[in-house]
Amino acid sequence: MSNYDALSWKSIQDNLAKLTGCSLSSFDTSKETKFFCESVGDHPICAAVHQNPELKKLCESECENQIFQADRSEHRKFFKCYANLNLFAIPLKTDGQERKVLVGGKVYFSYQELQDFKTKIEQLNINTEPFLAKSAEIKLFDKESFMNASQLIESVATPFFKNLHLKKASEARSNKLNTLFNLFHELDQNFGERDFYGLFLNALGIIFNGSTVAILKPDPVTGEYKTFEAFGKKIYELANFTGKEGSGLLRQVLEEGLPYSTREVQEIVKGGFPEDTSLVHLFPVGKPGKNQPILVFLDTPLSVEDIQFISLFGNQTSIILENHSLSEALRNHRKDSKTLTEFSHILGSTLDSEELFKTIIEQTISILHAEKGSLMLLDEESGDLKIKVIKGMNQKIVEGHRIQAGQGISGKVLEEGTPLMVQDMASDPRVLLNKRSRYKTASFISVPIKLNERTVGVINVADKINDQAFSEKDLQVALAISGYASMAIERSEFYRRSEELRQISITDPLSGLLNRRYFQERIAEEMERSKRHKLPLSLIIMDIDNFKKFNDLHGHLAGDEAIRLVGKFLRNNIRTIDVAARYGGEEFTVILPQTGKADATQIAQRICLEIEKNALVSDEQNQMMGITASLGLATFPEDADSLEDLFKHADRALYLAKASGKNRVVVYTP
Ligand code: GH3
Ligand code: MG
Ligand code: MG
Repeated sequence: MSNYDALSWKSIQDNLAKLTGCSLSSFDTSKETKFFCESVGDHPICAAVHQNPELKKLCESECENQIFQADRSEHRKFFKCYANLNLFAIPLKTDGQERKVLVGGKVYFSYQELQDFKTKIEQLNINTEPFLAKSAEIKLFDKESFMNASQLIESVATPFFKNLHLKKASEARSNKLNTLFNLFHELDQNFGERDFYGLFLNALGIIFNGSTVAILKPDPVTGEYKTFEAFGKKIYELANFTGKEGSGLLRQVLEEGLPYSTREVQEIVKGGFPEDTSLVHLFPVGKPGKNQPILVFLDTPLSVEDIQFISLFGNQTSIILENHSLSEALRNHRKDSKTLTEFSHILGSTLDSEELFKTIIEQTISILHAEKGSLMLLDEESGDLKIKVIKGMNQKIVEGHRIQAGQGISGKVLEEGTPLMVQDMASDPRVLLNKRSRYKTASFISVPIKLNERTVGVINVADKINDQAFSEKDLQVALAISGYASMAIERSEFYRRSEELRQISITDPLSGLLNRRYFQERIAEEMERSKRHKLPLSLIIMDIDNFKKFNDLHGHLAGDEAIRLVGKFLRNNIRTIDVAARYGGEEFTVILPQTGKADATQIAQRICLEIEKNALVSDEQNQMMGITASLGLATFPEDADSLEDLFKHADRALYLAKASGKNRVVVYTP
């Protein structure tokens, strides 16, 4: 397992632990029993056991034994450890050789269990003092929650681990997964199906840059599929959607239980989708079988991995929807979930950034019963925090005020990315300030706003209305709020602008295709992936024929128009997973992942023909001018085993296409 995988697995494990309130550790059983990684604060009793070498040995040998049994049995098992803690062990496998046992729980169901452990070690003449000291810290867990937690962990960890190899070198994806985990973590167990799908769609829309996303569900009376929830550009068109389970696109998805994508206009229109839709992706989600909901993406390019990924998550939704009893652990965190759910709805409806920031602070203050609050965002250029909204203080005083990273409380939270709660400013060593006059009380909370892993802002709240100090629970609520705020900010105008900039930096404005720099990144990535999975990869290099003459005859504007058209034809004639780029001038490249020579040749020939037939530019006299192009094709691993050679050989084939008369495809032969 590479470092990267270990990291991504670790964060999933952290999230699972957080979600269920269980401790979790994984052990690598492919080799010798090896401690692999540990999540979320260890149990106080465990910590005390480890202080005593004699006990530690007894304890570890007992645990090891259980781990090996679980590994062999291939089923989730429950056991009590030496300290009478209740645990579960879940064996996991990758598609390859790796095996792992996930051990978690470490909970007492009753104080009697702790008492029995104490009696046991008293007989060994071991001092029980350290254990008694810990008993105050111990929270009991109810058995049902424990069983449910283990089930949830198994159902998420098993497919994730099995697919871990798919996620290598794809940090973005692990971030996406975590975003979704966090989302589910935020959901109240009493949420309705609509709330759930609403948030689910929102998150998918954000993460995968969805143009329109929707959930289709059968009408309980007629059985026809209707739009249940939708977000994005085409919500109005989708409002009237009707589809039958047994027909067209829906049948494909429901019968096979697999995602389905199409660009075929006829199929799209027949399926009941708006006729100007260029691309439809459908995923079965929720509980498999009759009446299964379907997740829809319209006009949203998704890579093969995106599709696998969404599909994996679609399967998880049924577990989450049905698991109404993650209960205690979750419920403890969720006392304020009603308000938080409302909060998320309010934020969900605000896209204007000024309005959004104001709403965030107003809601935060109201939920936390505070008087003052502010929201600051990182100014990308200067690296300083800029105050966006302030409540309960004179806006004028602080206007234009900037805070440098590391300075003051907010600056510190920005720099370190960790929340800060101070109960008494005067006595807290972390705050080198005396109680300042503009605050009534001496307690405040300051939490980071994070986009992916980066801190981009800070939310501050101060002065509880009842003059008391903020509690640990208030902090939890503030953290949940900042989670929602990040999602909302990500979706807002503010973020969209920076996302647009990113898009601009990877696309070529004339052809609308990816630019050369991005192409180079992508082909390196695709090549890596193809090598790893031992799949073919084809590369087309294409050059417009006699383009100099075309320019000379019809002018540069007509030339530009021709390039724009070629861009369009390329985009229309490749699959979602293919990558077309403008390599330079009138030269284009197309990456065809998972595509052998025969298929790639067909695609190249289709492109060649399409351009010859349809790339018509009108000149100043409204005369239609055609263009043609020559294409060279080479395939990994048949023709080349390195990126360099693949490119060289495709280029060589292109040269031969030009030399043998142009307007044709030449496939490289050694
Ligand atoms: P061949 O069939 O051998 O490829 O001949 P060619 O004339 O296409 O090849 P050459 O490389 O000699 O000329 C390419 C021409 O493409 C030169 C340049 O004027 C034109 N060109 C490159 N980029 C652009 C562009 O962005 N817009 C326009 N209008 N013309 C471009
Ligand atoms: Mg050229
Ligand atoms: Mg040319």
